[in-house]
Amino acid sequence: MDLANISDIIWFPVEIGSVNGTNNHFVNIPPRLSGLVDLAYNLWWSWHPQARVLFKQLNPEAWKASVHNPVKMLREIPAEFLETAVKNEEYLRRYDIIMNRFSRYMNSKAGWFQEHHPDSRAVTIAYFSAEYGLHHSLPLYAGGLGFLAGDHLKECSDLGVPLVGVGFMYSEGYLHQHIRIDGWQVGIREILDRDAAPVKRVLNSAGEQLVIRMPHIEPPIYVAVWKVDVGKVPLYLLDTDILLNDPASRKISSSLYTSDRELRLKQEIVLGIGGRKVLSLLGIEYTAVHLNEGHPAFALLERIRERVEKGISFDEALRQVRGTSIFTTHTSVNAGHDVFPVELMDRYFSSYFPSLGIDRERFLSLGAHPDSPNDGFNMTVLAMRLSAYHNAVSRRHGEVTRQMWRSLWKEIPENQVPIDAITNGVHLPTWMNPRIEDLIDTYFYPVTPNWQQEHDDEAIWKLVDEISDDKLWALHTHLKIKLFNRIREPIRIKWAQRREDPLTLVTGGLLLDPSILTLGFARRFATYKRADLIFYDIDRLRQIVCNPWRPVQIIFAGKAHPSDEEGKRILQKIYHMAQQPEFEGRIAFVEDYSEQTAQYMVHGVDVWLNNPLPPMEASGTSGMKAALNGVLNLSILDGWWIEGFNGKNGWAFGGDTPNGNRDAADAPAIYNLLEQEVVPLYYSTSLDGIPHGWVKMMKESVKSVAPRFCAKRMVKEYVSKYYPQLISCADDECRVVLKG
Ligand SMILES: *Cc1c(COP(=O)(O)O)cnc(C)c1O
Repeated sequence: MDLANISDIIWFPVEIGSVNGTNNHFVNIPPRLSGLVDLAYNLWWSWHPQARVLFKQLNPEAWKASVHNPVKMLREIPAEFLETAVKNEEYLRRYDIIMNRFSRYMNSKAGWFQEHHPDSRAVTIAYFSAEYGLHHSLPLYAGGLGFLAGDHLKECSDLGVPLVGVGFMYSEGYLHQHIRIDGWQVGIREILDRDAAPVKRVLNSAGEQLVIRMPHIEPPIYVAVWKVDVGKVPLYLLDTDILLNDPASRKISSSLYTSDRELRLKQEIVLGIGGRKVLSLLGIEYTAVHLNEGHPAFALLERIRERVEKGISFDEALRQVRGTSIFTTHTSVNAGHDVFPVELMDRYFSSYFPSLGIDRERFLSLGAHPDSPNDGFNMTVLAMRLSAYHNAVSRRHGEVTRQMWRSLWKEIPENQVPIDAITNGVHLPTWMNPRIEDLIDTYFYPVTPNWQQEHDDEAIWKLVDEISDDKLWALHTHLKIKLFNRIREPIRIKWAQRREDPLTLVTGGLLLDPSILTLGFARRFATYKRADLIFYDIDRLRQIVCNPWRPVQIIFAGKAHPSDEEGKRILQKIYHMAQQPEFEGRIAFVEDYSEQTAQYMVHGVDVWLNNPLPPMEASGTSGMKAALNGVLNLSILDGWWIEGFNGKNGWAFGGDTPNGNRDAADAPAIYNLLEQEVVPLYYSTSLDGIPHGWVKMMKESVKSVAPRFCAKRMVKEYVSKYYPQLISCADDECRVVLKG
């Protein structure tokens, strides 16, 4: 396709002061090591530890200073380090091995997908999501939904699933968290330096950036396009923060999930309609769309509009689009579903809906909830109506979701409501600590050398039982100490450099002791997650925590949404508790939870505590990450844990539905488990100093969770459930009309 001839495209000179994308910014890189630049721009390094080591070895201080961001590091590193590396035979040998591995990965055409779906050449999936959690150097996420999307992309790359992602470049989106001494969360905005992140502008040969003009919107909104390489999967990011736009439009892509309704609607228009447009202007053909949540649902409207433009009737276009669209819903929380007032819809769609060949009434009815049609335009309802395949993200969430949306299918019984369940999973190489993976490898490799490509096979994991208790416990202790160092080092610096108030230092974790049983609670501070539940009975908790012989520590971390006052109050309450001398410094709140802190925590605590209000947790994924690393789940029976708990791999409570106050039932259940099972098991060490009973449970946790709650199992399930139908829909005859 000749892009230059399309009037909706503007090639825009790259703004002054930024990289022109042609790598000549990296003046210091000797030709012998030029591959480092390609490697830095492909997030493949984020799940291949040996590739990260290649950067770190150039200079550990520069690596640390870049916060493990190879693009930033290569831009800033003094030439002398590269000159040293070029003369180092050992370094060059490693470099060649990794570059070879990288290029074999990228060029391989024979993945799992190709083997199992040789008939599916016609299918490519366009995956739309408002957020992506890929690595902390690209902070385009708020929480679990983003990491799920990031893990999905990485796994599609590993399996060879043909997929292209679409999302947003949030340039001011990332809020660092600072906790004031009174416990109130304040956000400190980080402006993303787009040119020092692993993301590239989409450029033409003259070095100008691709900018599209949004269709059917006046005054015009322009969207610049960026690209992230996630292994083999390209992810296109939309950016309105460019000089062509007026100040109001520049704000559209500035931050995630704004609470300004109008701005939010504009975001979703840009994501869905703009995203669809970008793919077609880039000439990227795809046959199906996968919506991760309802935010990008306008993409389906745009697919319909394009068909109508070609002369197909609205109803026929709708039929075609439905048959090639998958919608994954992720929340049972009502506020998680966007509903836009009709006035706003009129303002932005009055020139759009005529191009669909329908009138206003029909248009508004697409987003009208059958039980409350006057509430506004509901994005989840729209997504459900415009897609034939819907799924929730755990079995329990499937039940809840079928009940929640059953009025869309009034004519059939609830258990036949067409919402399936595919339980979430996490990308194993991203979340399993590399040293745990190495330890496992020494046992697995001799039997199944390819285990990393087949880690969703439960049979392989039986060998976990063979791992020596000694080695596993030593490694766990090492990871725990690393977590504690990570928490305490910034505290020491605060003290040394700023003489900060000792109370703040204690609250931040100064007195934590790695020899003590440690619970971790880290996730977003949404109220339904009940972060403060364990403080229900303070005296009883104090007795558990401050038991002089068998003490317990709790490390909290997480952010409340900036407009969630209730969430901030819960956070403040916990912070106050951590400040109380009666807890003896054994409760800590770690500021500024991020992907990086999450990694340390899911590798290094002993127990992962999870106590949301059932049935609000659709799946939950942090507990899976913990389990992969031998961290034991102490979790309420909700979301994934209903499927994951087997009686031997952690602890469960709250399976019943008590009448009345749930907190009054759930909190004592946690205390009972701690007193009667968790604490005694942890402290019953043998003469060799190892708690063998605990280690046995760690192994059970790894082997029962890794193969079943990994993204490999999840992506394969999406492929096997939905792709055959998409393929049959996309045979050559109907492909002509179905493209896009
Ligand atoms: C995995 C993850 C989450 C999701 O946690 P839940 O258990 O689903 O609440 C949130 N934030 C970060 C940084 C994560 O890595």
